[in-house]
Amino acid sequence: MDSETGLEFPGLVRTARLFGRALLLRCPNCGGGPVLKSWFAMRVRCGKCGIRLERGEHDYFTGSMLFNYIVAGLLLLVALAVTLIASWPNVPWNILQYGGPLAIVVAVVGLFPFSKLIWLAFDLMLRPVTPAELDWHRAEATEWSTERSAAPPEP
Ligand SMILES: [Zn+2]
Repeated sequence: MDSETGLEFPGLVRTARLFGRALLLRCPNCGGGPVLKSWFAMRVRCGKCGIRLERGEHDYFTGSMLFNYIVAGLLLLVALAVTLIASWPNVPWNILQYGGPLAIVVAVVGLFPFSKLIWLAFDLMLRPVTPAELDWHRAEATEWSTERSAAPPEP
């Protein structure tokens, strides 16, 4: 990580704003966009504020995949519990046997961009982007560089 800000205790309004923007598939930082190239690919930068969506870190979204699988699994468990309770004692076991795995694949795919933007919102909640970091994101040509260019030599 190369953020110059320390961890910060997030306020409720700012947290709701960050996550609300992510759930609308907008940039959590500015609320603008575009941020998606396609359902499966993020743009390098937000089209409005210029923040690099992986904040310069090559494996930035690894945690978002874990989040994606956990949420998909929880959704499947809720659907399973509701189906069992609603249909007991005539549980449609065949539908659950084949529909469960299919539903989890659909959930993982459906949650894909949301999980990445929620991950970014979570990071921005704890490590807000500073104006200096945003300038660096806008100026940096590469997608994954956490190295800042050296300061100009003293005259
Ligand atoms: Zn933005």
